Amino acid sequence: MSSTHDGGTHLGESLGTDFFSVRDQFTEEQWEPFIATRRFVDDEVLPVAAGYWERAEMPWPLIRRLPELGIVGEDIAGYGCAGMSPTACGLVHMELHRGDGSLGTFLGVHAGLAMQSIAMCGSDEQKQRWLPDMAAMRAIGAFALTEPDHGSDSVALETTARREGGDWVLDGTKRWIGNGSVADLVVVWARDTGSGEVNGFVVEKGTPGYRAEVIEGKASLRAVWQADITLEGVRVPEANRLTGANGFADTARVLASTRSICAWMALGHATGAYDAAMRYASERKQFGKTLTSFQIVQQRLVRMLADLTGMQLYCVQIGRLADAGRLSPTVAGLAKMNNTGKARQIIAEARDLMGGNGVLLENHVIRHMADIESIHTFEGTETMQTLIVGRDITGIGAFTGETR
Ligand SMILES: Cc1cc2nc3c(=O)[nH]c(=O)nc-3n(C[C@H](O)[C@H](O)[C@H](O)COP(=O)(O)OP(=O)(O)OC[C@H]3O[C@@H](n4cnc5c(N)ncnc54)[C@H](O)[C@@H]3O)c2cc1C
Repeated sequence: MSSTHDGGTHLGESLGTDFFSVRDQFTEEQWEPFIATRRFVDDEVLPVAAGYWERAEMPWPLIRRLPELGIVGEDIAGYGCAGMSPTACGLVHMELHRGDGSLGTFLGVHAGLAMQSIAMCGSDEQKQRWLPDMAAMRAIGAFALTEPDHGSDSVALETTARREGGDWVLDGTKRWIGNGSVADLVVVWARDTGSGEVNGFVVEKGTPGYRAEVIEGKASLRAVWQADITLEGVRVPEANRLTGANGFADTARVLASTRSICAWMALGHATGAYDAAMRYASERKQFGKTLTSFQIVQQRLVRMLADLTGMQLYCVQIGRLADAGRLSPTVAGLAKMNNTGKARQIIAEARDLMGGNGVLLENHVIRHMADIESIHTFEGTETMQTLIVGRDITGIGAFTGETR
């Protein structure tokens, strides 16, 4: 195989799998954060990720390293943010998820959703007020859209925002809110009782009426916490209403920007699983030979590699389109749908190729197998992405089950 073995010593370390020489196309700007994140993952994340996952403990020492690596703030320019190109952003998220989906999801929520909401929908004053602290991780962000009764149809959200003098009063419930119990700033999406439109509000830590309860018993992304949120008469000043969020279309703009990142995240999980299985099969002997000596094993590895390479090409192209400002939500949706689906297949193959050792957390793959389930579901399930693309190619929206 053409993958380079870059001197890794433990199962899970990057093999640099790149059969189609995709990396040759990276610019210096893309290469630097990618390689810095890869080293961080191999040296610091992989040795401890399984332990945090098993204990369902947030990896705070690793989280604190993210601003030091200069990778917080996506493609947001200024305010101390990373200001990476979309491709560099994708590469960073890919590498974090190759190591640990929980850590990657933490950054996805904090920077990809919360900071992007402020960057895309906030006024200059609001950006100046919140983004520098978030970029330095002095303030942690959360993004509260999903509700107990509204997931895929979050467009129908029921949390209300009532104007009272110079303030807004928020009431409702939210579910699955990543960082919801630890965040300093929570972007809450609520419906203005006057206009009926969805608006975005930044609720600051300690605001009376905001309660968060961590969702227990989660068997995926265990090292990042999601919470059930109750908002009871939560009073926020008009200054905390995102001035550029005036309808659900604005919420959707934020979500569209992160959908493509999910395709990169899935690529990271699949790469981690493929690399581990490849290395394991090269070393494990049965019937007197390494597993890689058997034709069926080679065929399975090659099929995994073919799918992985396809996922890489999807990512490179959505990166190029995003870099050029031409990535449509539909194309991003197709990439998310394809890559999370393929990742599930690759990871399941990898798990099986590692036999009994494949179910041990110390060998990483079972963690990828559990974690990919959430990536597959959040920010629009595979079915929702399919319906988005289906509407585009047929001209017929099939979301509500209507026949016309
Ligand atoms: C680990 C994790 C982290 C998350 N983090 C956040 C967060 O930080 N902030 C936030 O706001 N949300 C978050 N979410 C919520 C996530 O976005 C939702 O779970 C997701 O949108 C799906 O909603 P649901 O779980 O209510 O499923 P449902 O919408 O109830 O869907 C259940 C099933 O029905 C299918 N379905 C739904 N509608 C249709 C239809 N019209 N046609 C065919 N099939 C359909 C779906 O595809 C799915 O298979 C998180 C979720 C998870 C699991």
